[in-house]
Amino acid sequence: MFLQPLFLSALLTIRSALCAVFFQSLDDLPQDVGYDFIIAGGGTGGGVVAGRLAENPNWRVLVVEAGPSNTDILATITPGLITGLYHTRVDWNYTTTTQPGANGRNANYTRAKMLGGCSSHNGMVYTRGARADWDGWAEATGDEGLKWDNMLPLFFKNEHLVIDSENQTQVGHLDPKEHGHNGNVFVTTPFTVHPINDMMLQATKELPNEFPFVLDFNAGRPIGIAWNQFTIDSHAQRSSSATAYVETSKDNLHVLLNTYVTRVLPVGNGTNFRRIEIATDAQSERRQLTANKEVILSGGMIGSPQILLNSGIGKRDELEALGIETLVDNPGVGKNLTDQVYTIMLFNTTLPNTDFDMDTALAEWNTTRTGPLTLPGPLKNQILGIRLPDNAVPLSQHGLHDPSPGPTAPHIELYHSQISHSTPSTIGGTVPIPPDIGNITTLQFGAINVHPASRGSITLNSSDPFAYPNIDFGLLSEDVDVAIMREAIRSARRLYEAPVFKDSVFGSVYPASNITSDEDLDTFIRGVAGPYEHGCCSAQMSPRGARWGVVDPDFRVKGTTGLRVVDASVMRALNAYLKAAWNQFTIDSHAQRSNSATAYVETSKDNLHVLLNTYVTRVLPVGNGTNFRRIEIATDAQSERRQLTANKEVILSGGMIGSPQILLNSGIGKRDELEALGIETLVDNPGVGKNLTDQVYTIMLFNTTLPNTDFDMDTALAEWNTTRTGPLTLPGPLKNQILGIRLPDNAVPLSQHGLHDPSPGPTAPHIELYHSQISHSTPSTIGGTVPIPPDIGNITTLQFGAINVHPASRGSITLNSSDPFAYPNIDFGLLSEDVDVAIMREAIRSARRLYEAPVFKDSVFGSVYPSSNITSDEDLDAFIRGAAGPYEHGCCSAQMSPRGARWGVVDPDFRVKGTTGLRVVDASVMPTVPSGHTQAVVYGFAERASLSIMKKWE
Ligand SMILES: Cc1cc2nc3c(=O)[nH]c(=O)nc-3n(C[C@H](O)[C@H](O)[C@H](O)COP(=O)(O)OP(=O)(O)OC[C@H]3O[C@@H](n4cnc5c(N)ncnc54)[C@H](O)[C@@H]3O)c2cc1C
Repeated sequence: MFLQPLFLSALLTIRSALCAVFFQSLDDLPQDVGYDFIIAGGGTGGGVVAGRLAENPNWRVLVVEAGPSNTDILATITPGLITGLYHTRVDWNYTTTTQPGANGRNANYTRAKMLGGCSSHNGMVYTRGARADWDGWAEATGDEGLKWDNMLPLFFKNEHLVIDSENQTQVGHLDPKEHGHNGNVFVTTPFTVHPINDMMLQATKELPNEFPFVLDFNAGRPIGIAWNQFTIDSHAQRSSSATAYVETSKDNLHVLLNTYVTRVLPVGNGTNFRRIEIATDAQSERRQLTANKEVILSGGMIGSPQILLNSGIGKRDELEALGIETLVDNPGVGKNLTDQVYTIMLFNTTLPNTDFDMDTALAEWNTTRTGPLTLPGPLKNQILGIRLPDNAVPLSQHGLHDPSPGPTAPHIELYHSQISHSTPSTIGGTVPIPPDIGNITTLQFGAINVHPASRGSITLNSSDPFAYPNIDFGLLSEDVDVAIMREAIRSARRLYEAPVFKDSVFGSVYPASNITSDEDLDTFIRGVAGPYEHGCCSAQMSPRGARWGVVDPDFRVKGTTGLRVVDASVMRALNAYLKAAWNQFTIDSHAQRSNSATAYVETSKDNLHVLLNTYVTRVLPVGNGTNFRRIEIATDAQSERRQLTANKEVILSGGMIGSPQILLNSGIGKRDELEALGIETLVDNPGVGKNLTDQVYTIMLFNTTLPNTDFDMDTALAEWNTTRTGPLTLPGPLKNQILGIRLPDNAVPLSQHGLHDPSPGPTAPHIELYHSQISHSTPSTIGGTVPIPPDIGNITTLQFGAINVHPASRGSITLNSSDPFAYPNIDFGLLSEDVDVAIMREAIRSARRLYEAPVFKDSVFGSVYPSSNITSDEDLDAFIRGAAGPYEHGCCSAQMSPRGARWGVVDPDFRVKGTTGLRVVDASVMPTVPSGHTQAVVYGFAERASLSIMKKWE
């Protein structure tokens, strides 16, 4: 639906006074202007940068935009006409690749191809995100400027809050203090008068926990029900980067329309990429333009990585496969593509419908700027942000992590679109139209997972810059995204169960109200959900100097000069510091081991009895309930089983293998697994035995001329015996120091290939190193978990361990049979996650760097195990997979979780979930493996558990 001149005489008059200079084709562009800045793509980001740079009258700025101008297209101006823009000549009309997580469906994907980009055709909803988004980006990029508090002045500079065209109140609809009042982009709070408005406010009182009222969605915590804010001016016209920044500029801003940027090129042989290649279409001549200062790519989350890749800035092997010469090898370009996940929902309703006659509405908008076309949808009055509780199933069960950036961020968005007999419109056709639901009126709305964990990519199909790239969002490739969508649907259902909707909103018809189980909802979601048109992150920002990411916090493309990216592709997220410390041991001042037996048991009074050489085979409920304060014991598999009942409680401390084994043998575990072994399920808890974790360990050997630490055992034992001195006072003759190494945020394992950082945060190391001895002999290996290195000849070696202390791999303890004496299956899932191998690789490299320090120059030489020619990723990986083993720090197989959480095995009081009278106190309750050795952590946990137990009974 394009502009009839009749409709726009007033607008054209306004625009004729503006001075940016527009050229409709490449042939019209003057040859003699030396542009200081060239902006490739005149969209949302590009328009802003163009306008701001052109504020300097001494600079000449050129914008090159593939599409036409926005000014003569009515549907970009009239908010209610937006759907008339999709699948037209001002839409790139993309299609995603098949999405395996969405049953192999493809989705239409609309992107504006006109001046203003998507700000000329989007839904105009004005949301700044959550404080946690910006603070998280600041942390991830190491740039304080991105923090919420530091960004607010820029939001204010961008925004011009005004009263809507119908002069409706803003009181109670937003907080004016949170807004800019003199900026470029107009923001208003238009709304359609409809009974649902007050009903939603009433729902905030009836269900305040899940749906509180939030006065301003843009105050940093968009959680609750708020009035919507739009980038619409006081004349009910769209405000876009084109209207707000480009059209208001002076004549030092030139705009070349209908022209494609095909590549950026280096000036000379270097990496100064301030030259662009442009063409009218695939057949036409390519021309080049060079900026005096910089080129800024603003082609959007598809266009910008596409231009970079076509220019030879991308992953070398992927470019080479297409015959594109690699000028800057950066594997991050196009990766990390993300979009939110969206589905339509329909509820049966008797509320008044919002249907209207289009001709009448257009006439009304045209004459008085009132009526349904003043909004991008007749019922987009309110917006809902829902944060799932910390113990919500999707965020905790089955090892799913919370993909949201923090407590001020919602997981879910809901918004109404209309109440109608007709089929709902879907945003740009990214999701299927619901099937015919009969002759009923439905309340129609969108449910969105705003923080998905799934990631995809933009990759090239060919070296032809006009060929559309592969757009793969990896939609629903992470199960947590489906689980969050499930909760979005359940949240919406709970909202319409509020008493206020009792007589007007009835069962859900899409998905049908009988679709309630996890399985049925998952099937629905995988069959219908699509991307939400908020694609981003395909040229991700990372810290200055980081080896991952595409741009730095100044938006400069890494490995280049003269080139930046400024658009939605840059959104979102390692410094090797080595810490050596003196080792500390649980050894007393007489050089004797101090352990829990010596320190707690032997020092107790005679009210502590210790029964040795006896196995606990099971715990049993007292009576028919779940009070498990009885144990079954036996001397061995053949002997009689006896039972003992505690007056108060039984505490399992069998360790990370023994405790889950006893629980499983007792019928506390995953029902189907127990049933398969003929064990009756008394408490169905799928978490028992799961999540088993151990750190990953390998030996390393370096050739050295340092004095060896070998000693004669008899002499040493005599020395220890008489004077408590000498080599036997330590668990190894050279275990003097310990090293914790945190990989920098930009280290390859933590960033590349979509591997995430498994460490718990910036105070935790990824790697531990420690010396064991300097010797001619074969090193001892801890408990034999790793193979003895092969014979390395008659040399002295400095021997040490290298450990990945925060592996991502997880395994399990499961039973083999119902015989409590049969050993269980102990599966650490060792190195099942590639990131664990990648971190081990860096552990080896870190150790090598350490011994390259000048102080070791004359005494520590090449690495002999792994041999010094093993340096490439591939060779190191082969070594690690062949040599690494668990580090004897197993834990986490009866994981602690929040009180009331439906996942985990024990609560923070160490009580076994679903039971009374039973706790677990040992390494199995650790939620995750700690940043070091596990003994002291178990001491800490056990002290805490003791307090908890004493508090209950004293
Ligand atoms: C249908 C829809 C509804 C949306 N609704 C909302 C909403 O209500 N609220 C909200 O906050 N966000 C919304 N969004 C998202 C938001 O509009 C975008 O994330 C944002 O505008 C993207 O800005 P950008 O600068 O990254 O890219 P764009 O605005 O897309 O700009 C890219 C520009 O570059 C041009 N270009 C691309 N390649 C080339 C090339 N090779 N040569 C020359 N020019 C090129 C394009 O034509 C385009 O003009 C919506 C998006 C869509 C598609």
